[in-house]
This record gives sequence, C-alpha cells and structure tokens, in this order.
Amino acid sequence: MPQTIAISPLADHRAILAIPFGLVKTLLEAAKTPTWVAERSGKVLFSNGSARQCFGQAAPGDLIQRNLFNDMLKVDPNDIGQKIDAGEHELEMEVVREEKKTRARVQWISDPGCLIVQLETEPVETPVPDAATQLTVQELLQEREITYRNLLAAYLKLQEVNRQKTVFLASAAHELKTPLAVIKGYYDLMLTGSMGRLTDKQRDVLEESKDSCERLVRLVSMFLNYSALESGKLVLQLRENDLRDCLDEVAKRWSEAFQRKGVKLETSFDPSIPTFRFDYQKVQQAAANLLDNSLKHTPSGGSVTLKAGPHFWERRVAAVAPVEERRRFRLPRPNSVEVSVADTGPGIAAEYHQEIFEDFVRVDRNTSGMGLGLAITKRLIQAHRGKIWVESELKAGSRFTFLLPMDQG
Ligand code: ADP
Repeated sequence: MPQTIAISPLADHRAILAIPFGLVKTLLEAAKTPTWVAERSGKVLFSNGSARQCFGQAAPGDLIQRNLFNDMLKVDPNDIGQKIDAGEHELEMEVVREEKKTRARVQWISDPGCLIVQLETEPVETPVPDAATQLTVQELLQEREITYRNLLAAYLKLQEVNRQKTVFLASAAHELKTPLAVIKGYYDLMLTGSMGRLTDKQRDVLEESKDSCERLVRLVSMFLNYSALESGKLVLQLRENDLRDCLDEVAKRWSEAFQRKGVKLETSFDPSIPTFRFDYQKVQQAAANLLDNSLKHTPSGGSVTLKAGPHFWERRVAAVAPVEERRRFRLPRPNSVEVSVADTGPGIAAEYHQEIFEDFVRVDRNTSGMGLGLAITKRLIQAHRGKIWVESELKAGSRFTFLLPMDQG
C-alpha cells in the first residue's frame, strides 16, 4: 500500500496532499534546477540530484549535515539571517559555484522555518518559436513552477509532521527509561544473593530476565539517540583525541558479552594513527553499534575483528579529475582513518547493502532490533564528514567499514 499524505487542510495544497510521499520526493529529485532545503544556518536538510551534481557528489544524503553557505556557496549565513529578520523573505544573490560566479534564489519559508535555495542553471540555446508557441511554452513553464513550489511546500510540511511524530515517540520512550532502570537494579540486587539464597533454577531465570531487560534498555536508548539526531540535536564535541584509546575502551566494554556467547573478539589498531580531532563519544557509539550487530549475527564459535589504520582518501571530486592532475595532487600523508568490523556471520545479500543504512530497515527478522543501529551510525559518521559502507556476501560474513577524515575543522 503506498503511503499517502493526510495532513492539515491547507486549501491551496489540498490536491498535492493526496500525492504519495515517495512521488513528491521523486519529483523534487528529478527537477533540473539545483535545489536545496536548508536550515536557517545553512545546514542541508535535502538536496536534489542536480544540486548534488553541482558539487561533484552523487549519493543522496552526501550533502546532508554540510553547510550550504559556508562550505559550498561561499556566502555568509549571518548576512542571510539579517535580511530574513529585516523581513526580506525572497532574496536573489551572487554566489560562487565551482569557482564561477552565478546567481541563487533564496526563499525563507517561515512555517516550518526552512530555506529553499535554487541555483540559476546555464541558459540553453533554443530556436525561437513563433508567438503562439511561445505563449504556450510560457504558460507551461509557469504551471510547472507553481506545481514545483506546491510540491516543495507539501514536502516541507510532511517533514515537519514527521518530526513532530518522532518527538512524541521520543517522549514516550523517555518515560520507559526510569522504570526499566529500577527493574534492572532489582535484578542485580537479587543476583548478588543479598535478598536470600537463590537456587540454580532461580538464578537462571533471573539472568535471563535481566538479559531481556538490558535488551529493552538498549532499544529504548537507540530510539532516543535516533530522535535526538532527527530533531537536529547532533552537535559534535570535536577534540584532539586518540582513536586507539577510544576503540580499545569500546572493545573492553563488549568483551564480556562476546565471551558469554562464545564469539572471539580480536582487535588490531595501527600504532601510527596520530591523534586528531573527533567526537570521542560519538565514534564510540558508532563502533559499539557495529560490534553489537556483529555479535548479534555471528553464531557461537565465530569471530569478530575490530581494526583501525591510517588511510589515503581521495574524495570523489578528486577522483574525477584528469589522471595527470590526480598525480600532481598525490597526498603526502594519510588524511583519514579507516575503521572496520568484520565478522564470520551469515552475511548480507548484495541487494540490501544500501538499504540497511536507512531508518527502520531490518532484513533479519529473527534478531531483536528496530532497524536504527546502522542509520544512526551513518549519521554519526557523516557528521564527521566521513563515510560508511558494507562488503558482504551470503554465508561469507560481513565487513562494515567507516572512514573518518583527520582534518576536522
Ligand atoms: P537492527 O536494529 O535490526 O540491528 P540495524 O540498522 O543495526 O538494525 O541493521 C539493519 C539490518 O542489517 C539488520 O536487520 C540485519 O539484517 C542487517 N545486519 C546488520 N549488521 C549485520 C551483520 N553484522 N551481519 C548480518 N546482518 C547484519
């Protein structure tokens, strides 16, 4: 069943609101004008295909979390903020795109508080049509423009409704945290024997109940992390840190759970990784999510390896440059760190390799989870301007790898 939009009775958008959400996204994606939806600060929330191509990027989500004004168009977001505050909600301005000047149109949509930024595209030479044809073409173009704006407005409204739903679910999840902590506390107390001696059977039952309770705690905190990221609360605490310490701590924290299941956990951290700026907690969270998955999916007797080492990362913009230019720009030293978690589990079929990083996508229904672990991990890595991917084949294990650039601003 396609998901349809049913939201507030905006008279001029009523027809649009009956259009399936996926279709709205597809139409925006297909539009020729490079278009971004961004926060007032310039943080990208959405970019269509033409917009991503403008900056040599291709994958949806590549520009998310980057700052459109500072990083890409080289304009000061404060100037734009001041103009909006002065009541100018439609601005035309000169911007820099690939070192060439061009014009951009910036529109401020006060509800839900977003900017729509469109770049002028190169004029295309077309034969001059006769007067009658010209009128029809103009009418068609106007109609297309109106439809396009309506679609964009409906899309923004939908995003806002989606955000409100996430906030609501997050507050429900938050309410579960305290009772769960109390239950877990009592299990711990009983298992110490301070409330009376336990028979072996009672101990087994309590251990199993405690495991289930801990699983529930993990699910609730996974959802809370997700909703915090969704509502834009992801702020990186970038500090000069040692990645080997960071990953070593995570591995130690997980070693007992691996031992309990009879899965071997090995680590290998290259001693030449220098200290660099990254968010210690967020990288630990990303690594922990990958270890959690590998443990969940690897049967007893299997093994998991957590590795980290320096890496030369040629970003895609450089990769499309002519060969001679690439040679000239050969990096003098590694500019990033590669972290991977490889397991001997059941593997993942190729058709799911992209999909599993999306929100709420689960392939293996026999394990617990909400389909959020990888989606959260991807956001955390992208916030560091890094990238994450999986290499896997059915019955041949999986390797999840992420790259963290070492030149965090
Ligand atoms: P979940 O909460 O379901 O674990 P994730 O986003 O962490 O959600 O993972 C999405 C899906 O990816 C899982 O349902 C599982 O099918 C697959 N997956 C993730 N990691 C592994 C792995 N190491 N081995 C096999 N399948 C995996």
